[in-house]
Amino acid sequence: TSFAHFGFDEQLMHQIRKSEYTQPTPIQCQGVPIALSGRDAIGIAKTGSGKTAAFIWPILVHIMDQKELEPGEGPIAVIVCPTRELCQQIHAECKRFGKAYGLRSVAVYGGGSMWEQAKALQEGAEIVVCTPGRLIDHVKKKATSLQRVTFLVFDEADRMFDMGFEYQVRSIASHVRPDRQTLLFSATFRKKIEKLARDILVDPIRVVQ
Ligand code: AMP
Repeated sequence: TSFAHFGFDEQLMHQIRKSEYTQPTPIQCQGVPIALSGRDAIGIAKTGSGKTAAFIWPILVHIMDQKELEPGEGPIAVIVCPTRELCQQIHAECKRFGKAYGLRSVAVYGGGSMWEQAKALQEGAEIVVCTPGRLIDHVKKKATSLQRVTFLVFDEADRMFDMGFEYQVRSIASHVRPDRQTLLFSATFRKKIEKLARDILVDPIRVVQ
């Protein structure tokens, strides 16, 4: 597979060329077409596999398809991950590729300033990258709303469970409209992750790195 097979438009292809990626990684080859088709998916993949771009590119396409349709407030895509560092990395990639379309990303994570994050959320962003507890705090304080979310990603789900975020992960999933698209990434596919996938995904396709 080459990037041309994904059918991305010229703006996004331009950003990809600027990144000097010569060809898609295996998880991108398998995962991107599935995500673009609108299906739910489970990706068993580790850091370094290129999984971040594998969900960011379909998110960008999804938002560009949806943007005119959904008035209202709050993000259209939410990416939930375990740590501040990962949040910042994913946010940086969202900005890098989202620039192609003028889309805005905000990162909200534990340990950062609630006030500054709330201000950024209220200024508006189509994409929110977050750690689970902090997103819930902002929703409770009405700094943002999940009503417009139609694309939900859980990254490093096994690590979020190890860190004790299972309740928060499930809570976020239950507060986003059921007709959303959901992608779940995990380095391992243990019983608890399998159960989560059964509970929050609809007829998912499994992709193994
Ligand atoms: P990730 O597994 O998403 O953390 O990505 C690991 C690294 O690979 C990041 O620095 C990405 O920028 C880079 N990367 C992602 N996709 C590609 C690709 N198709 N070719 C080369 N590098 C890539």
